[in-house]
Amino acid sequence: MRMILVGPPGAGKGTQAVHLVERFKISHISTGDMLRAAVSEGTELGKQADSYMKAGGLVPDDLVIAMVIERIGKPDCTKGFMLDGFPRTRPQAEALDVELQKAGVALDVVLQIEVPDDLIVARITGRRLDPDTGDIYHIKFKPPPKDIAGQVIQRKDDTEEACRARLEKYHSETAPIIPFYAAQGTLKRVDGNAAPDEVSRRIEQVLG
Ligand code: ADP
Ligand code: ADP
Repeated sequence: MRMILVGPPGAGKGTQAVHLVERFKISHISTGDMLRAAVSEGTELGKQADSYMKAGGLVPDDLVIAMVIERIGKPDCTKGFMLDGFPRTRPQAEALDVELQKAGVALDVVLQIEVPDDLIVARITGRRLDPDTGDIYHIKFKPPPKDIAGQVIQRKDDTEEACRARLEKYHSETAPIIPFYAAQGTLKRVDGNAAPDEVSRRIEQVLG
């Protein structure tokens, strides 16, 4: 299974990805997680990506494309993968297409999680992460258990200002990739405006 998750920041991509990678036994490739790891390790890529990420902008295509192509070439991806947060621009979608064609494989599904803009800021500013496990929580919608509550952290770019910048980028740069996948016949849409478990159920339904 080769799958893409697409949706605005805070749509619940990371939350839903956890169930999907378990179900399909595929590798979870989150470009946001990979870039944050590069920043905290202080690699050359991390140094270049840091300022874009803090401001809620997009990291330049050439850097992200090279990172993803290297990652999907790793042995664990032969059984399939879930791309979470990539592609985010038309050039990224086209580069991925070329790479998959070269490898003689195709995407099975592009799952779009739709959430209205007015819900996004509350989801993003309330997001918290367990730094040890990467588990995703929300101060209101999914509070961490007591033994975890003391150690959760907030992402540097989960401020209202950076969130609004990311949302704008989503509409101008990322939404235009959706017709590209609709034309390929791989696009499936899910309404993400419900509790996480209900969204999971809807995803199961559209995936069949
Ligand atoms: P969110 O969970 O809010 O959707 P991510 O964790 O996916 O955010 O990404 C965090 C940041 O990393 C983005 O705002 C952007 O700066 C950078 N990033 C992640 N994926 C990409 C990508 N495919 N292209 C460009 N920048 C990216
Ligand atoms: P994305 O990866 O698309 O940016 P996340 O999965 O990180 O989104 O979710 C963003 C925030 O919203 C997190 O705090 C998460 O706990 C919360 N969240 C995820 N799905 C839902 C949902 N269906 N309803 C309410 N809150 C949600």
